[in-house]
Amino acid sequence: MGNLDETFLGLSLEEAKSRVVQLGGRAFHAGVIRREVFERGVLDYAAMTSLSKPLRERLAAELPLLSSQEIARSEAPDGTTKLLLRLADGETVETVHMPARPRGGEARRGATLCVSTQVGCPVRCPFCASGRSGLVRNLAAHEILEQYLHGRALGPLRRSVVMGIGEPLANQTQLIAAMRQVNRDLGLGARRVTVSTVGFPDRLRRLVDELGRHPPFQLAISLHSADDDQRARLVPAMAGVPVEDVLAAGDLWFDRTGREVTFEVCLLGGENDSIGHAERLAARLARRRATVNLIPYNPVPGDRFLRPEPDAVESFRATLEAGGVVATVRWSRGLDSDAACGQLRSRIHPV
Ligand code: SF4
Repeated sequence: MGNLDETFLGLSLEEAKSRVVQLGGRAFHAGVIRREVFERGVLDYAAMTSLSKPLRERLAAELPLLSSQEIARSEAPDGTTKLLLRLADGETVETVHMPARPRGGEARRGATLCVSTQVGCPVRCPFCASGRSGLVRNLAAHEILEQYLHGRALGPLRRSVVMGIGEPLANQTQLIAAMRQVNRDLGLGARRVTVSTVGFPDRLRRLVDELGRHPPFQLAISLHSADDDQRARLVPAMAGVPVEDVLAAGDLWFDRTGREVTFEVCLLGGENDSIGHAERLAARLARRRATVNLIPYNPVPGDRFLRPEPDAVESFRATLEAGGVVATVRWSRGLDSDAACGQLRSRIHPV
């Protein structure tokens, strides 16, 4: 019996070649398996009929293809599907597949996949179900990649947002390795993948230095408030980090990569959704190349925050626009299956 933690997709190509040879295959079979997975979407050795039956059986017994397994699925009426995946150590993560909405009465191909980068989250935003239990562990690059494989099995992917459970920049090395593979092996171009972070300035600066002008993804920073004291309450891991430092790190990203940063604001009813909040945010962003994405809060059972009124959301957006800041509103999808932003994990870890 092989090492139970070892999986085909967790190995480099060279490591995979040598394991396949040990199991009675030829080195080139490792490339065959990768093509079956990445080009044809085959996630089971048994269906790889270009390999001999004895080799398929040996591989299945000794070297699992994936480290994750779908254990539950919930679907919302709008077509959004949330997958619950169990990892090799029994921990779970969630991935959400959101088919493109029809535009101008025309159906559109492809979906957006929302993926997770950690089990739990160290940031502990008080309005987010995902951070309630704190951080359990980082995901390995192949565990991030596998979410794309499970998601793609539900239908072709057009875009991806790394906006599920976890703070991506707290797992930077594995994140970058996974994003490079997503670009290269799954054909999702860098401009179609957005990584969302709370924007630790030192980590962002390191990221810019490491990636230079060709980052394998777009960047979004979850700001939630332009006021230092309120942001410290809403994003506890950023307490003591001035909003202006976060914005300066975003400026550096734009200067070095030429790609505009999106700032996200989860609008909480009666908390951060007033005209005054919008005016102060506009004042911070007006001279910057940036877009704001407003995300009306999704209620989570047992917490104190409220969904904002639609009129308040529209006034907030209009105030930003009047202040010279481009803003869009994203009403979350999949509310009925708890697949909406901030609701991941709420069913597995009841509040
Ligand atoms: S909103 Fe994002 S950063 Fe905050 S606790 Fe949830 S997953 Fe973590």
